[in-house]
Amino acid sequence: MPRTALLHDVVARLRHVIGAADSFIPLHAPEFLGSERELVTQCIDTGWVSSVGSFVDQFERDVAAACGTAFGVAVVNGTAALEVAMRVAGVVAGDEVLMPALTFVATANAAYHLGAVPHFIDSAPDTLGVDPGALRAHLLRIGRVGPDGLINAETGRRISCVVPMHVFGHPVDMEGLAAVAEEFGLVIVEDAAEGLGSLWQGRQLGSFGTVAALSFNGNKIVTTGGGGAIVTNNESMARRAKHLTTTAKVPHRWAFDHDECGYNYRLPNLNAALGVAQMAQLGDRVAKKRRLAQRYIDRFADLNGANIFAEPKGAQSNYWLNTLILAPGTDETTRDQLLDGINAAGYMARPIWSLMPSLPFNAHCPCAPLPVAEDLERRIINLPSSAMLADRA
Ligand SMILES: *Cc1c(COP(=O)(O)O)cnc(C)c1O
Repeated sequence: MPRTALLHDVVARLRHVIGAADSFIPLHAPEFLGSERELVTQCIDTGWVSSVGSFVDQFERDVAAACGTAFGVAVVNGTAALEVAMRVAGVVAGDEVLMPALTFVATANAAYHLGAVPHFIDSAPDTLGVDPGALRAHLLRIGRVGPDGLINAETGRRISCVVPMHVFGHPVDMEGLAAVAEEFGLVIVEDAAEGLGSLWQGRQLGSFGTVAALSFNGNKIVTTGGGGAIVTNNESMARRAKHLTTTAKVPHRWAFDHDECGYNYRLPNLNAALGVAQMAQLGDRVAKKRRLAQRYIDRFADLNGANIFAEPKGAQSNYWLNTLILAPGTDETTRDQLLDGINAAGYMARPIWSLMPSLPFNAHCPCAPLPVAEDLERRIINLPSSAMLADRA
């Protein structure tokens, strides 16, 4: 199919699914349909706008409940949540941290902030996330299990954990990954920033790792403006995460006693108020987004040259971002022409992130062969995905 014909076909189908682009339709807009105004006003009226307050405690309970974990710790953003999650899971300076090459840059940044080194692995075409089979093959080739755990024989560094990221809300094959983690003695830290509200085998994302990180940035499925959370079933990790992120202050009526170098990663009560109102809408939000995704899937079903990515087997995805996958072998030029045309038609469209090893500051990082990730990078276009679009056309 000629490129321009594909572009016209995609735009016509977009019009059917989400209506005419009378004004530019963004990729993902926040929605405030609940008690946001009331709860934020309550913070202002009572003066509880800053780093402590009842909404922080409530938000932590709500987030843990939504993830099916015993504990939740609210923090200032998802990147901070990932950093602290890795740290309480045992990552130390000089370690390597396994993560997909196809991820948002924050996953790698969080490892760097701890003095650790990202180590990139390939993705699976059916989940878009880490491929447990490819990971195992790579570790069998470069890894040595010794008394200190898994060592990268090529660099001499310890490999302490693996960070699966649930791309666009689609769950990683967590059963396959758990088996590889077990075989090589790796801790799993989930980057569930995009996965809130998704299920895998009936269980919530965020509950599979020893610890998991979430983001509540403005473009995520629910938002606190900016924010993040660490969730876990491990009580001592939860306590340590809370302690570290609140300046490591020893509780006392008046003394400033801090027992280690902590962070100020606290989520303000003002943001938590927004979060409490938003969490109450998570179920409705996911239902709407699943309805929108189904409309995309149905309407694009017989399209020539591309298809809409559907949730993996065993998964119930939140469909954070809808994904058009171009035919195998599509080159970057074709993708970019489509991106230009779709955006020009008033529908915001974006490519997937640049592969991590292609960013200059990651050039020195260890990296597995990436045949699938390199192919996917050229073939993915995200389409407008706000929940409100489910009822628009
Ligand atoms: C959004 C996101 C983050 C970081 O969250 P922030 O709140 O923006 O710091 C981390 N990982 C992934 C995969 C994300 O999508």
